[in-house]
Amino acid sequence: MKTLSRRQLLQRAACGIGALAFHDVARAADDPLAARLPGHKIQSLDLKPVPLPWPRLVGKNAKRDVHGRGPTVTVAILKTDQGAMGWGELGGNPKDLEKLRGLVIGRPVSEIFNSTVGTTLRDAQPLDIALHDLAGVILGQPVWEMLGAEKPHLYPVYSGMVYFDDLEPKDKPVGIGQVLNNCAADRELGYRQLKVKIGRGNRWMSKEDGLKRDVEVVREIHKAFPDCELLVDGNDGFNVATAIAFLKGIEGIPLFWIEEPFVESVAAWTELHAWTRTHGWGKTLLADGEQHNDIPVLEELEAKGILNVRLLDIVGLGFTPWRALMPKLVKTRTVSSPHAWGSGLKTIYAAHLVAGLGNGCTVEGVSCSHEHVDFGENVIRDGKMQVSNKPGFGLALRGA
Ligand SMILES: [Mg+2]
Repeated sequence: MKTLSRRQLLQRAACGIGALAFHDVARAADDPLAARLPGHKIQSLDLKPVPLPWPRLVGKNAKRDVHGRGPTVTVAILKTDQGAMGWGELGGNPKDLEKLRGLVIGRPVSEIFNSTVGTTLRDAQPLDIALHDLAGVILGQPVWEMLGAEKPHLYPVYSGMVYFDDLEPKDKPVGIGQVLNNCAADRELGYRQLKVKIGRGNRWMSKEDGLKRDVEVVREIHKAFPDCELLVDGNDGFNVATAIAFLKGIEGIPLFWIEEPFVESVAAWTELHAWTRTHGWGKTLLADGEQHNDIPVLEELEAKGILNVRLLDIVGLGFTPWRALMPKLVKTRTVSSPHAWGSGLKTIYAAHLVAGLGNGCTVEGVSCSHEHVDFGENVIRDGKMQVSNKPGFGLALRGA
């Protein structure tokens, strides 16, 4: 697990996490559910590596080489003196375990967490997901309900696993058939939205051949899976001219969204936005903010109605900062789809966030083995990401 980069720290600062400690501790007294939290003191904190292998090898995207077969994530497990247990992906460095133990063990949960805002002790942020799970368990509420919803807001879920699998293996590439097989497998898992990676001409093929293949892949998928909505993700491998050339190549094919064609810039997005509105993609959402984030640029584009979807990572930014960010996005009518790529657990965390707060549009789906985690009621049904009604995230570590 990586430590936070300077950029991530800046993102957090931009989202107001720096001011969290004092401001929100002051609000803790207003937490109507807090009465049950103080009875619990943190008794133990342990870390555990949890393998979450993907169902297949995931290949290249416009920027990065083969992604492999899935991560082993580190999860934090919190137990209280009253016997409650909560767990979730660690949002920090496992090397900080002793420091985190020193911070939370023996402390009442209510000094660290407030159900109306999230983690209130700034240095305990790496435990943010585990604390949300724990508080849900203590309060007997699913996380989405703790976030204020009476009924969960359910959204479609897209497969985020359609990479450049036509280009593997390197010495004897299998071709587009493999991408279609992968889409069929994802459809079988219940997905009715597929996000197709594009930008082969950025690193792996000539500009011309790469663009031609991107177009061919999207056309073939659209033909083979007419009941699936398509999203495309360029991983910053385009410029305005090549993005428009790609769109001309897939003329007539509707897109749910276009994600990160290039590193965000006001000029480039303004131009592409204007072009899409007059060339058949007027309803297509424009999404950015996964990485290389320039928050003021994103905010300017969102305020102007040019960008429609914010994609900051659910664990990288953090669950509590996401809760604070959502009302700000609502003001500019910007919807959210927290980035969840990599771990199948992050899909569930992102789903609970939007199920509780609304203002979502689709959830990034990462499929993985359930050998080490029981995903319970967090399943795909009717093309939508369902969320568990059990306390916390409704996820259970097998053998824990
Ligand atoms: Mg992306």
